Amino acid sequence: MLVAIISDIHANLEALEAVRRDIEEQGADCVLCAGDIVGYGANPNECVEMVREMCADGRAKGRCGIVLGNHDDAAVGGDISLFNAMARTAVEWTRKNITVPNRHYLERLELALEFNGNILVAHASPHDPHEWHYITDLWEVGRSFRWFRESICFIGHTHVPFIACLKNHKPQIIQGGEVTVDAESRYLINVGSVGQPRDGNPAACYGLYDTKEGRFALRRVAYPVREAAEKIIEAGLPSALADRLAMGW
Ligand code: ZN
Repeated sequence: MLVAIISDIHANLEALEAVRRDIEEQGADCVLCAGDIVGYGANPNECVEMVREMCADGRAKGRCGIVLGNHDDAAVGGDISLFNAMARTAVEWTRKNITVPNRHYLERLELALEFNGNILVAHASPHDPHEWHYITDLWEVGRSFRWFRESICFIGHTHVPFIACLKNHKPQIIQGGEVTVDAESRYLINVGSVGQPRDGNPAACYGLYDTKEGRFALRRVAYPVREAAEKIIEAGLPSALADRLAMGW
């Protein structure tokens, strides 16, 4: 089974459409989403509806393939005391513009989900997912492995993709954007961000995992950044949210 894992769409419809096309071209059987469908961008409703449709396809049908992100939580009334001014403005805009059915849908999302018996999906971290930790260094990576029992945990949240593995009790980062999983190791993989990459590469990012071959790869997909940026300006959202898309941060 070929599984696509998307995260941090952030209401960027242009990026999501491009990723959706790429997922279809690759022939993925199902899609999992690690959260943050909304926040920052100008198309929260369209993105919630499209992600719902994508994640209900194929073998994932009948079960929820989406977990809650901190911006989804904020959009439905969650705590924003730790958000910076720009994120807060975007949350307030999203709260005003999200439809009632989409709000109710986000409200019902779980913080983590298990898939296929050996995959865990959470937005920020496998431990205390509601605390929205940022896993940004090898120490945090190493600590995280104690908090899940599955072979692979997929996360998002930082918008910076990485592949980490725990082999012989030692955590390490795997370079090159792809890996063939081995039965002796466990993996923590950040699939990056579809709608607001922050690793200096503006192309949308997501992950593809072939469960049969045990092969995982990060994919980058170019999309019309300018269109998404113009919509952010037209919506009256902070212009820095538009500018950052072209820079990939
Ligand atoms: Zn995010």
